[in-house]
Amino acid sequence: MTKIGIYPGSFDPLTYGHLDLIKRGSRLFDKLYIAISINPAKKTLFTVEERKAMMEEVVKDIPNVEVVICDKLISQFAKEVHATCLLRGLRAVTDFEFELQMASTNTMLNPNVDTIFMMTKTEYSYFSSSMVKEIAQFNGDISSFVPPFIAEKIYEKLSNKRK
Ligand code: ADP
Repeated sequence: MTKIGIYPGSFDPLTYGHLDLIKRGSRLFDKLYIAISINPAKKTLFTVEERKAMMEEVVKDIPNVEVVICDKLISQFAKEVHATCLLRGLRAVTDFEFELQMASTNTMLNPNVDTIFMMTKTEYSYFSSSMVKEIAQFNGDISSFVPPFIAEKIYEKLSNKRK
């Protein structure tokens, strides 16, 4: 049976933490969808199309990964693509409560879907997309957190916003 997984997230913007999870997660599935979520309640720096294009660029050498924009419930999307697993990252215990709630809700909505969690490599385990944006806003060095071309996009976006 083909094992299909989904890694859902905002990826605003993607970081080395996400990328580490994608690389390791892609080995667990025959096919891994990266589902970029549209969440009207979340104000994002990049549009969903921009986030998709950036993600596609960084995963282009991983053959079993496909990037999609998800404009519906992830449980619904999972049904449509016959995915049985959602992949999420756990950084610290602080992630746990929210993730538990999400995992239980998703399985309630789609009993065929389970969530599996992966621990990030220690060197990636303490930062988030929000932190990266905050550092960049003050022209700090974000080269340890995101690939060089993503860093450029962030600085460019922030400088356009200031104009
Ligand atoms: P969301 O808004 O859905 O939480 P994110 O893009 O912030 O989306 O995160 C997507 C997933 O990636 C989550 O499971 C999150 O725990 C994980 N993640 C985010 N940052 C890191 C990191 N630095 N290391 C490992 N996992 C991370």
